Amino acid sequence: MPAIPANKPYRVGRSRTGLGLFATQPIKKGTKIIRYFGRLLDSRKKKDDAIENKYLFELNDRWTIDGSMRKNLARYINHACKPNAESDVRPRKRTVIIRAIKNIEPGEEINYDYGTDYFKAYLKPIGCKCDACEKKRKKKRAEARAEKLRLKAKAERKAQKAAEKLAGGKDAAKKKAGAAKGNGAAKANGEAKANGKLPNGEGLNGHGAALGAKPTARKARGAKPAIVAETQATEQQSHASA
Ligand SMILES: [Zn+2]
Repeated sequence: MPAIPANKPYRVGRSRTGLGLFATQPIKKGTKIIRYFGRLLDSRKKKDDAIENKYLFELNDRWTIDGSMRKNLARYINHACKPNAESDVRPRKRTVIIRAIKNIEPGEEINYDYGTDYFKAYLKPIGCKCDACEKKRKKKRAEARAEKLRLKAKAERKAQKAAEKLAGGKDAAKKKAGAAKGNGAAKANGEAKANGKLPNGEGLNGHGAALGAKPTARKARGAKPAIVAETQATEQQSHASA
């Protein structure tokens, strides 16, 4: 790795994507950190225009800095979508200064936004590996996992309810028959039977859910994960308030 004078507030080190430039001292917001320098290429010259490497820094339509030489330590600075530095481009002076746009702590990697063109051409196809994008990906993965769990739990509840409806249909008929006593018994029995067969979706669903509530809760406390128990608890609450 290249030697860096001790008075410089950075060093080259391992980063997520290879090498990167890291702060070794606190760098205040607004401070010039380093210059991005190299040979000036003139796009009007065929020979210059033919040069291709990943350290070309375009100043304007005509001028480009070829920053591929190792002495240009700024070339180690990686791209970030939410960076702590910026590239201050002065086309007329033909210079690029990397400047802190946040207070940077020792150990922090220094980065700047390479710009939309670079992002689209080089980073988007392989997936940007900057902190902000990694965080976004992580969040998406977590959300996908949670959604999967939720759907699984929902399917399990549905299966459970279906099973309970089969078994509970007889119980309900017995209970109702008992509660109604004498005269009402026959009627209640009839109602229970009708409930089992009736194609009236709304009534059936409501009834089934109310019957299913208790046994489901019991199972939730037992084998199922906490998330499921929570979902069911809120669902029961909504049932209760409805
Ligand atoms: Zn990114």
